Amino acid sequence: MSKKRPSPVPPQPLPELFDAHTHLASCGAVTAAQVREFMDRASAVGVGQVCTVGDDLAESVLALEAAHSDDRVFAACAIHPTRARELFTDGVQEKLRELVSDPRCVAVGETGLDTYWIRHEPERTAPLDVQVEALRWHMDLAVQSGRPLMVHNREADRELMDVLSDAPEGLKVMLHCFSSPLDMARRALDRGCWLSFSGNVTFRRNSELREVAAYCPDDRLLVETDAPFMTPEPFRGARNEPAYVGYTARCVAEVRNVTPEALGAQVTSNARELYDLV
Ligand SMILES: [Zn+2]
Repeated sequence: MSKKRPSPVPPQPLPELFDAHTHLASCGAVTAAQVREFMDRASAVGVGQVCTVGDDLAESVLALEAAHSDDRVFAACAIHPTRARELFTDGVQEKLRELVSDPRCVAVGETGLDTYWIRHEPERTAPLDVQVEALRWHMDLAVQSGRPLMVHNREADRELMDVLSDAPEGLKVMLHCFSSPLDMARRALDRGCWLSFSGNVTFRRNSELREVAAYCPDDRLLVETDAPFMTPEPFRGARNEPAYVGYTARCVAEVRNVTPEALGAQVTSNARELYDLV
């Protein structure tokens, strides 16, 4: 981040909000005291609960530790598709099973498919066949553990729907940082998926994504930060954190023609239902 950017300030508070997907450890919140600081800033503007996500085994352990240290935090544990090879190394599957069985782990994620890096910098990621095998493994784990599946999808709509067509009926699936076109949203919603919108829905040129956010049924809608990335307007490019999810919520409320308060209540209740917190 070389350009000088304005320092973000939290949005106007809302009575309730749930950040459905964030990465507290990557934000710099590793110790219990740091987690508390981030969550205090978040709850000061109404973000009462978050789901923090592990992208590899070490981060999954940290996510669960955060969830145990602060009752406003829940964890999701998995190996990210770009790191899918790690899943097939010694002891990782066993350890993940153990993490996911913890009551503070409320989702298996993030797993999924990412063809962007395969096409741009293949050495930074795992080949597609390994990603597919890892996604199927995580899907089985979600089924066995009764947890929802939290999916990362970057430019892999067709491949993802192929895999999801084999998922059992009852499996809850959440597509995090939903960024696909409306026809993909329709297919995913037909399958019962939850769509989680991140800061990119606020970006000026993403009007098509705002149409998807307007189209999503009330009971399938979530908002998230995906912090430390995806900072919403007006602070795009700065470092993100859960306290800023209200900017995304307000943008989504506007395109849906509802009040930010109603939107906040809706996404909070949806996240609680998805993560089985009710
Ligand atoms: Zn993420």
